Amino acid sequence: MTEEKMQKTDEEWKKELTPEQFEVLRKKGTEPPFSGKYVHEKGKGMYACAACGQELFSSETKYDSASGWPSFWQAADPDAVELRPDTSNGMVRTEVVCKKCGGHLGHLFEDGPKPTGKRFCINSAALKLKDGEK
Ligand code: FE
Repeated sequence: MTEEKMQKTDEEWKKELTPEQFEVLRKKGTEPPFSGKYVHEKGKGMYACAACGQELFSSETKYDSASGWPSFWQAADPDAVELRPDTSNGMVRTEVVCKKCGGHLGHLFEDGPKPTGKRFCINSAALKLKDGEK
């Protein structure tokens, strides 16, 4: 895992990402619930960052949270993501960021299932399922 951070301008990211991906990953947007392509995804594989390809979450830790967003109870590697306090929109939350490219992924909540009790609530637009078997 590289510690080196990707530094790209908005213009550069715009060329590589779809408008939806750009809005979520670079502008901290949130896709509408149940709108993302991975909400009900059951395929096996590794969910990587849609912007930089860093491996973020294993399908083995994906579960149905009924929230409307892909949910995971653990990151593939604690070093793959960065957790930041987020008080935007009048809420106190924990933002989940891709450590490699700084892209916004979603938020972390403490109402997840065992064994961690964590719920990584992640936008589909921020993810790309690799080696998915359907
Ligand atoms: Fe990334």
